[in-house]
Amino acid sequence: MASGDFLACMNSPEHKNWLKAVYCLRQIMREPLALYTNDQMKSFHRDLRQQNVFLQTACNTPPRLRRDELSQPCESCSRWMDVIMQHHRQPTVTVNWDNCNPSHWRHDYWEVAKAYMPRGLKKVGRAHECDTPALLNLINFCDHFKLDTTVVRQVIQYRNELVHAIFKVNDEWLHGFRTSLSNLIRQFHSEPWMEKVQQQIQETLALDLSISIVFQGHAADGLVADNMNYAIAQGPARDDADSRRSELAFSIRQMQVQSLRETVHELLYGEDTQDSEELAMLSSFLQANRNLEQLFSAELQTIRSLREERK
Ligand SMILES: [Zn+2]
Repeated sequence: MASGDFLACMNSPEHKNWLKAVYCLRQIMREPLALYTNDQMKSFHRDLRQQNVFLQTACNTPPRLRRDELSQPCESCSRWMDVIMQHHRQPTVTVNWDNCNPSHWRHDYWEVAKAYMPRGLKKVGRAHECDTPALLNLINFCDHFKLDTTVVRQVIQYRNELVHAIFKVNDEWLHGFRTSLSNLIRQFHSEPWMEKVQQQIQETLALDLSISIVFQGHAADGLVADNMNYAIAQGPARDDADSRRSELAFSIRQMQVQSLRETVHELLYGEDTQDSEELAMLSSFLQANRNLEQLFSAELQTIRSLREERK
């Protein structure tokens, strides 16, 4: 792909839709969800301990993890495991016990929360270190959260589609995403942040981004992905909107390469298996530009090996 084509690809409405949707989930939703789930888990944990004295006793020996199961739990850990399962909306799914440090269940509510989350969170100690999908999974699986889980699952579904969309989504998709996110936010009507977050989502999705790319040195050296420059072409006419729009443009610029990297990693190393078409699309996107190719050289090697294995 020539430089001009790559710039056109970055400026395609579908790529800009993708960026805006990622921004909403990653930047706007994460903090309020972390605040909310943190408070909720704190009170859930306190209630559990008050209702069951066995949950207040210290762990003797932490259980061992074998093939996703905890074996030989002590009395206290065993009670905690029972309680966690009793409050699991889908106890038949694999519970990611390896996220947890069972000997901390007694005094650390976030160690309990992590049992309801996707795997890979062993080293995460606080709500604010979790990403939006992890927090949405907690709300979906733990029955302490009295929200409409259909709405929660719909946003999780949109988020998964976003990962597999290889950096592009169409207007129809974005419209559905906006509706489902809006429905989710309405569930938090008693939270003080609800209206502000709803407004931020609407503003972000209405932004008209114009993407230019800064060349370093001679044009033949290629485009510099790190220096992609996002400018706002136009937006709703509001007095205070200009500074917010430039802030937003700055944030999206900061986020872009990092989001690409996280998405590529989830596709390659996540729990889902990748199909061949997805790998081919991913590879051609990353090779479209010399800088991206350099930034993602290790990932491109993984893609080549995966495709080779499947021949
Ligand atoms: Zn124990």
